Amino acid sequence: MTQPAMNPGSRLDPWVASYAARAQGMTASAIRALFSVASRPEVVSLAGGAPFVSALPLDEFADMTAQLIRDRGPTALQYCTGQGDEKLREQICGVMELSGIHAHPDDVVITTGSQMALDLTVRVFCNPGDVVLVESPSYVGALGVFASYQCEVVHVPTDSEGLNPAGLSEAIDRVRAEGKTPKLIYTVPTYHNPLGITQPPQRRAEILQVAKSAGLLLLEDDPYCLLGFDGEVPRAIRADDADAVVYLGSFSKTIAAGLRVGWALAPHGVREKLVLASEASVLCPSNFSQLTVSEYLATQPWQEQIKGFRALYLERRDALLESMEQLMPPGTTWTVPEGGFFSWVTLPEGLDTTAMLPRAVAGLVAYVPGTGFYVDGQGRDAMRLSYCFPEPDRIREGVRRLSGIIETELDLVSTFGPGANIAPHSKRGPNTPSPELP
Ligand code: PMP
Repeated sequence: MTQPAMNPGSRLDPWVASYAARAQGMTASAIRALFSVASRPEVVSLAGGAPFVSALPLDEFADMTAQLIRDRGPTALQYCTGQGDEKLREQICGVMELSGIHAHPDDVVITTGSQMALDLTVRVFCNPGDVVLVESPSYVGALGVFASYQCEVVHVPTDSEGLNPAGLSEAIDRVRAEGKTPKLIYTVPTYHNPLGITQPPQRRAEILQVAKSAGLLLLEDDPYCLLGFDGEVPRAIRADDADAVVYLGSFSKTIAAGLRVGWALAPHGVREKLVLASEASVLCPSNFSQLTVSEYLATQPWQEQIKGFRALYLERRDALLESMEQLMPPGTTWTVPEGGFFSWVTLPEGLDTTAMLPRAVAGLVAYVPGTGFYVDGQGRDAMRLSYCFPEPDRIREGVRRLSGIIETELDLVSTFGPGANIAPHSKRGPNTPSPELP
């Protein structure tokens, strides 16, 4: 490429001076490079959040999609409406009934994964500098969206029941007293990524109450709701208020992430804006993917299949928890997820999970350092471990390796004093994660 005239960009990227201000929030983290190593087969990765799609009935899927193309190829391979396929929107309403939500298909917008629904919602609501209130810690992919729209993220304290309502209320007051504009409260109430915890019903009601009395929109992100180990589906916050909540759902964790089908359920006027924003961005979501999901829901025993996923993930969670119980050094604590993919592990005082990561990867085990789930450098003593992808024996081996690494770090700290393993940090976490990480 020829160097553009008058542009003071670097040799690596001659366009650097031309970027919009919003691109400044799009930064790759230093640990991103490590994850390409972590995906090598010899490394046990407890880092990625990829669902175990090999357990899907792949032959049935193949037959079904072949039949779909034969029967309805010209429709499946064509553009569709920006809002998404009407039949699938009806079916999505049926799926949301499991969470206690009674919705009209007209209020559903189908998107390219729920990640896109998140992006559209922030695009529609947030000006640069607007504040989004999030859990401590929060989903890394959401932090990336907030950064790309130049939002200011404020972490609200969490406790064993999730987002803390008093903390939320105080944070809103503080933000307003500073003359800033809070716009959204973003929460993952069920089988949280990365905390692995679930808000009980009373907590959900309190959070909704705080949002409503502050006049703030609640963005409820709920991709894991059908993956509870007891088979119960927690009642969504949206089930109790149709006006104050934008609800995000996804088939990524329950059917197939590669289809990229998710949705937003929004109050009517908001839905209108989301559709227009979506059309401006992608014209329409993939019709082939939508009809595949629709056909799958209509013709396959999908609830049974999800039951199989739940059993599989429960076995893996138990492998993780039991081996941590046996092997982790004293002073290490972790959350006990009742569903979903993740446990949040806090290490004994003085350890730093970002500094430790290269040594862990060299020891053939990977995790996501806690700092990745914060925008302000918190989370140094914590890490997210996921149990969704590796087989149980690999998980046990991963924990064996990881606990050995932690023991070595502890030796380092006890020999050389606190801070011995701590590297300098950048303030931001990996807010543009590699796609397999979230
Ligand atoms: N929200 C949360 C909390 C997630 O964990 C993820 C994926 N890891 C998403 C949204 C996005 O999922 P998708 O776009 O595949 O629906």
